[in-house]
Amino acid sequence: MQKVALLKCSDYNVELIEKTLRNGFELLGGDSYLRKLIPHGSSVLLKPNMLSIEQAGSPVITHYAVFEAVIRIIKDYSSNISFGDSPGFGDPRKAAEKSGLMAVANKFGVKFEDFKETIHVKLDNSILCKSWDVAKAPYEADVVISLPKLKTHAMAYFTGAIKNQFGCISGTQKAGWHTRMPDANNFCKMLLDLNTLIGTSFAILDGIIAMEGNGPKNGNPHKMDTIIMGESLSAVDSVAVRLIGYNNPLDTPTLKEVYDNKWGAVLEEEIEVVGETISSMKAENFKLSRKGGTFHFSSPAVSRFLSGMLAPSPSLIEDKCIGCKRCEEVCPEKGKVIKMVEKNNKLKPVWEMKNCIRCFCCQELCPAGAIETRNTTLGKLLGMDKRG
Ligand code: SF4
Ligand code: SF4
Repeated sequence: MQKVALLKCSDYNVELIEKTLRNGFELLGGDSYLRKLIPHGSSVLLKPNMLSIEQAGSPVITHYAVFEAVIRIIKDYSSNISFGDSPGFGDPRKAAEKSGLMAVANKFGVKFEDFKETIHVKLDNSILCKSWDVAKAPYEADVVISLPKLKTHAMAYFTGAIKNQFGCISGTQKAGWHTRMPDANNFCKMLLDLNTLIGTSFAILDGIIAMEGNGPKNGNPHKMDTIIMGESLSAVDSVAVRLIGYNNPLDTPTLKEVYDNKWGAVLEEEIEVVGETISSMKAENFKLSRKGGTFHFSSPAVSRFLSGMLAPSPSLIEDKCIGCKRCEEVCPEKGKVIKMVEKNNKLKPVWEMKNCIRCFCCQELCPAGAIETRNTTLGKLLGMDKRG
């Protein structure tokens, strides 16, 4: 049985968050629990969500007040704390500075890691992926704590504790993983292997203001007043998805893979929720990115064909597009899917959908929120991928 602390916190006030987190750690086992989590002399790496270069307080990224509250607690257990992430687009240092995280880190002597230095390693007991190039800093830290933001995600339906660690893949190498794992289920298996490799040992999920709809970058803020914390990343995510409307956590692809591969706790009976109850904390009218249900075929060609028939596709909102070409730039299937063409003297992207692997990097990283997901007719008929 995995313990998860579900906590109510209605404001990004750092004192209030610190008090809430201290209460959470008390519920999980108090000082002795923390000493076990962070053995004496350990280095600790905090991995917030810095998806892209965003303003401090943006619902796209982990809030700097949550980050500060975590540091205030962890500093009593480690004198060697660092933090970092590798954004999907843009310079990591700029992202850390603009987000307000760098200022907090400087105040507490927390070192910044840009995740640019990588290390080649093998994972023997992998589900799928044995050979890796990962950012050296999280790989070498004794204790890695994931600090995700609760958000919708077009490919993974939801991003939380497990998906957050994809940032441990440095910069543009992320695109390579999308190309190698065009099947969403295999991509999720890869995420599990990555977390095993990094050894992520705890997660504190910022759901005070979550993101609904066209996440993980261009959705809308949804106030949930929620913090979820625990050692089991899958248990933390399982509680989170139930709060936003997936009554069965196995309806989300990553947690389905967790269950199928016996990677961690997912089911209600495997998780002891302490603090608040799920029923009392459920988000009202939370707009999902995709409704439950997954499909999987081992052949990439079949998978791609069925994705085309069933999965939603990226769709342009013409009047929002600023012609910046970023979608073309970040598409891992470069040159085959998105082409910029001139229309009424403006550059606009055009998709060659038969080559699209539905990774949704274009939708995820469009700076103008000009790409959303559009369901296919067959997908709608089969009740898959409907918006909640
Ligand atoms: S990234 Fe967005 S704004 Fe930029 S060209 Fe593509 S659709 Fe237009
Ligand atoms: S067009 Fe968008 S969803 Fe399709 S492969 Fe390229 S980035 Fe991924």
